[in-house]
Amino acid sequence: GGAVDFDQVSHAYDPARPILQDVDLHIPAGHTLAIVGPSGAGKSTLARLLFRFYDVGGGAIRIDGQDIRDVTQDSLRQAIGVVPQDTVLFNDSIGYNIAYGKPGATEEQIWQALRMAQLEDFVRRLPMGLNTQVGERGLKLSGGEKQRIAIARVLLKNPPILILDEATSSLDTHAERLILDALNLISQKRTTLAIAHRLSTIVHAERILVLDQGRVVEQGSHEELLAAG
Ligand code: ADP
Ligand code: ADP
Repeated sequence: GGAVDFDQVSHAYDPARPILQDVDLHIPAGHTLAIVGPSGAGKSTLARLLFRFYDVGGGAIRIDGQDIRDVTQDSLRQAIGVVPQDTVLFNDSIGYNIAYGKPGATEEQIWQALRMAQLEDFVRRLPMGLNTQVGERGLKLSGGEKQRIAIARVLLKNPPILILDEATSSLDTHAERLILDALNLISQKRTTLAIAHRLSTIVHAERILVLDQGRVVEQGSHEELLAAG
């Protein structure tokens, strides 16, 4: 499962200034759609509507045919994993940060998620491994390391739907490569909505949607968009 449909979706923060207008999109279960467009185009707003961070102004969003207004926040949280632009970590252990919201997770499952997020060696080298504190009183992590923690969290949660929000925007080339590899891994077989400024930083995606000033201006495969110029 996990098919996502936006049907004539609109949204405004201020009624006098529409942000999204008549957005139609369809992501078949297990496919990836990349949303590209300039800053301010409405990409993050669109993604946040999917997990009901904001309520839809007009039109409807459906997951597997069901209007998300008829789904509890709890089941939406179960169904959707987010790798945000800036991962906020708790002032607690690495293990707690990864297993947060999933208290039944075993240590072995956490290490497996860390391995897939390419963080296993890093965490093994820490003085107390999974129990090393991060945040104000503990270890300072780089942007890339934080993002890989967010990826490990999503891997452990294993949701059918994934939102990747400009996940590599603040990284150097090496860190970006690591994250892109990890993101490609987690987006396989999951319905994924991947947001990017530039085409070069998106994960493999079956389809690309170009958003400008809240409207869909182009939609197609990578090849189709290149052919169209
Ligand atoms: P993008 O992700 O493409 O940069 P956003 O969805 O973040 O675009 O923003 C689209 C527009 O909506 C921008 O003009 C932005 O200033 C505005 N906006 C975003 N979030 C809010 C908010 N919470 N309240 C008011 N305006 C917002
Ligand atoms: P969980 O803790 O249920 O596994 P997440 O950690 O992915 O889920 O996110 C928890 C909640 O935090 C989301 O359901 C959403 O409401 C909010 N959230 C996550 N990422 C973002 C984001 N990039 N922008 C705004 N809110 C977010």
